[in-house]
Amino acid sequence: MTDLRSLTYEKLCEEVKAMGLPAFRGKQIYEWLHQKRAMSYDEMTNLPSALRERLKKEYPLADVSIEQKLVSKIDGTVKYLFRLGDGEHVEGVRMAYKRGGSLCISTQCGCRMGCTFCASTLTGLCRNLTPSEMLCEVYLAARDAEENGEKIASMVLMGIGEPLDNFDNVMDFLTIVTSEQGFNLGMRHISLSTCGLVDKIYKLAERKLQLTLSVSLHAPNDEIRRRTMPVARRWPINELIKACKDYFDTTGRRISFEYALIDGVNDRPEHAMELIALLKGMGAHVNLIPVNKVNETGYRRGKRESVEAFCRLLNDNGQNATVRRELGSDINAACGQLRRSVMNKDRGGTFSE
Ligand code: SAH
Repeated sequence: MTDLRSLTYEKLCEEVKAMGLPAFRGKQIYEWLHQKRAMSYDEMTNLPSALRERLKKEYPLADVSIEQKLVSKIDGTVKYLFRLGDGEHVEGVRMAYKRGGSLCISTQCGCRMGCTFCASTLTGLCRNLTPSEMLCEVYLAARDAEENGEKIASMVLMGIGEPLDNFDNVMDFLTIVTSEQGFNLGMRHISLSTCGLVDKIYKLAERKLQLTLSVSLHAPNDEIRRRTMPVARRWPINELIKACKDYFDTTGRRISFEYALIDGVNDRPEHAMELIALLKGMGAHVNLIPVNKVNETGYRRGKRESVEAFCRLLNDNGQNATVRRELGSDINAACGQLRRSVMNKDRGGTFSE
């Protein structure tokens, strides 16, 4: 069955026409779903009740709710555990910045990329999220933000999942969330993070979207990258960098590279020098992240000084880089861990609503 919330404005209008309804119903329903962020057809009070009943039966909407909300005592960062209609869970994080709130959302339930440092992939991919489910993450978090006098000014697709592995749904989601008749978030305020699916980076470039592409690099060479990221066995680092250069040439948007510093693995001065050579001339930004400890992985972050030294080395050699400020450390804000804690409880049979 089709979920009307997953349809772009054009597709919704076609569907409404195919149902034999007057065209203005398409606009009405779209505005209810995406501007007023209605969670059910019952809220759509200017639709005839017979139509609402028909929509309920023929076009059930994804049923997503906030099951748990954790608020950091340190910096106010909010972590959401979203429950999906089939009982699965994903996570989102809302961070407060001076320029407005930033929301991090999930694009898949689980992940099949297998990065060895990441909590989201430990149990593999369960399924893709639909555009409707991703929109619900945004709308529920936005409502919660507004209730607290805050707004969502930007968004990152950096939660659970690999966005480019759920390409079509993510594209429709982006079309809807940026639409003027809908949530109307500027594409320039959105970042999409990928572990480096090279074929999909070319495909994304063709769309010429004004979003920021973040590439999870995490290593300066194939030898180290293959140790931590299985995707590197499919595409060597030089092919990835070539795709990134093509992306920049095609879209005019500079790439942002994520680099999680893991003690003794990729955080030595010689790694910094290799990284500088690799990214030379790209005008890219490097986001350094002291790796988050995940119990199952055994990786550790280096000392504060070595992180700073790595960053300084990049900057001194003309490579733009910053160390990401850590938020929500008391609520496990890094993605994947809250979902796992619920899954573990589920298995033990002690979890109840
Ligand atoms: N699949 C996408 C987006 C989700 S992961 C991607 O790989 O980019 C979001 C970011 O968190 C990625 O850069 C990922 O590599 C990073 N990440 C995952 N586990 C981490 C950990 N334990 N510590 C630091 N960063 C981590």
